[in-house]
Amino acid sequence: MIKIYENDAYIKEFVTNIAEIKEIEKLIELKETAFYAKGGGQPGDIGVLINNNQEIKVINTIKIENKIYHEVESIENISLEEKIEGKINWKIRYKHMRMHSALHLMCSIIPMGVTGGQIGFEKSRLDFNDPDKKINKEEVEEKLNELVSEDHKITYELIDSKILEEKPEIVRTMSVKPPQINGKIRLVKIGNVDLQPCGGTHVKSTLEIGKITIGKVENKGKMNRRVNIILND
Ligand SMILES: [Zn+2]
Repeated sequence: MIKIYENDAYIKEFVTNIAEIKEIEKLIELKETAFYAKGGGQPGDIGVLINNNQEIKVINTIKIENKIYHEVESIENISLEEKIEGKINWKIRYKHMRMHSALHLMCSIIPMGVTGGQIGFEKSRLDFNDPDKKINKEEVEEKLNELVSEDHKITYELIDSKILEEKPEIVRTMSVKPPQINGKIRLVKIGNVDLQPCGGTHVKSTLEIGKITIGKVENKGKMNRRVNIILND
């Protein structure tokens, strides 16, 4: 199964074949897909699959044992090996890409361990290990928007997972282990600002993120400080 979004996160529509149908669970696997599967704090994509002029709603995209499944509303009149068209809900996905990229920038600004994170359409957040409450909301917001306006390009590199084992310091642990692809790990590079392994979808330039507003900074337990961000539409 080919993950189209790994090579190009901007593909919104594609035509492919059905690889597997799980009728009871209402799950469809495709030969290739542009739908991002839930993981690393980023929600699974929603959208539609079109087969024989029939539109099937995709309500979530999930990963089960390294396979990507499209969770659909109904699964009638579909058979294996048929051609099928996929269209992702771009409005939601593009917002997730901007949010996701913004969280990388935040991670690069705040030099503390990341203990959790979640990307959403309205707001996103990262949790930091900040026992002395050093995170300053205004300072972070100013630095973030400065980085956005500097138009840093976001690019990818596949490296041997062994290299990562030898140089663990390059990982800023967005709290999850990055997915391995045939012994390789995908690094996401934001200009000379940030470098970390990540399997998610990002924009091509920080400019696309637009203005970032820091929402609430919440105390979530002794170690955890939660920093929420909001983006302009
Ligand atoms: Zn990422």
